[in-house]
Amino acid sequence: MKPATILLIEDNEQNRYLTAFLLEKRGHRVVGAADGRTGIEIAEQLLPDLILLDIQLPLMDGYAVARALRRKPALRGTPIVAVTSYAMAGDREKCLGAGCNGYIEKPVNPETFVGEIEEFLPPTISPGTA
Ligand code: MN
Repeated sequence: MKPATILLIEDNEQNRYLTAFLLEKRGHRVVGAADGRTGIEIAEQLLPDLILLDIQLPLMDGYAVARALRRKPALRGTPIVAVTSYAMAGDREKCLGAGCNGYIEKPVNPETFVGEIEEFLPPTISPGTA
């Protein structure tokens, strides 16, 4: 099975470190971006299997990033999972409305996080689900 290439758009360095650590431990390849514009550029070149997207980001927020990604034909089918500390009613709908496929709340649970992410990958690229 082929490990997934995951683009992580997250401005908080500690969150990036922890998230990458958890995913890499399960064999996935993680590429980080600290803001939305950089994330969009990397996404177009990398064509990742999945994009993890923080919502509170500098320059442009995660909703704007998700909408921009969905306007790129090559990225229209790429799973986008929002990872956000926003816990207000309606945020999930707002994420899905912007084009995200899923929504995970911070702080992430290290025990279950990778499994939750892998739900959004095709089975052929989820080495850790067994
Ligand atoms: Mn953030």
